[in-house]
Amino acid sequence: MSFGGHVIRTRKIGIMGGTFDPIHYGHLLAAEESFFALDLDEVIFVPTGKPPHKKMRRVSSTEDRYTMTLLATLDNPHFKVSRIEIDRNESSHTVDTLREMRHWYAPDSIQFFFITGLDAVLDITTWKEYTALPSLCNIVAVNRPGYQVGKLEQLPEIFKGNIVPLEIPLLSISSTEIRRRIESGKNVRYLMPELVERYIYKKGLYKRIGR
Ligand code: NAP
Repeated sequence: MSFGGHVIRTRKIGIMGGTFDPIHYGHLLAAEESFFALDLDEVIFVPTGKPPHKKMRRVSSTEDRYTMTLLATLDNPHFKVSRIEIDRNESSHTVDTLREMRHWYAPDSIQFFFITGLDAVLDITTWKEYTALPSLCNIVAVNRPGYQVGKLEQLPEIFKGNIVPLEIPLLSISSTEIRRRIESGKNVRYLMPELVERYIYKKGLYKRIGR
């Protein structure tokens, strides 16, 4: 793009959406691998506010999930964290977040890559205004070894060429498994940054009591 005789390079922004309850090394590695594989300028972590699809389980408070995400990303200069969904009072919908974030940048100066888990991407046809998503971003579907990436073929035609599958060479760490381990007093060391682990214990998150 040219502006006043100057060529403006399109910035490539990764948007890492997730509940992050808690954030772990799988998420951080997915963001870092996306950064290098897609030649991104930065990755913005967007912890969900009130997830519309998580009414069945108690999710940790938005502030706890935001703080853990901040602690986990502190030491990486190309990672940022946004409160855009945390500060929204109503349910979080990706389409609204992407539309709002587009206003932060000059028109046509950016390309968004929305990064999330393959399982979340396979449910994309249940998301609000999902048909609008390909015009707003590319979608990076992060896969754990052994999952069925072939299922992406079953998504509607509009997602053809829009979804980038990315396999991360990592263990089977999941937030669910971490919560279970903490609930039953098992070891979680080395599954997430130490600061996040310390925060979880200090705040008493994921204990059985009150759940
Ligand atoms: P989820 O059901 O918690 O996660 C689905 C799977 O993807 C899990 O295996 C999860 O692993 C993994 N995952 C989640 N975020 C990831 C990430 N950034 N990188 C790598 N793996 C990731 O899904 P969720 O976290 O609630 O939602 C994911 C994103 O989709 C959020 O940004 C959410 O807002 C969006 N979403 C939007 C709508 C909508 O607009 N209506 C509906 C659903 C989801 P862990 O359990 O280990 O995290």
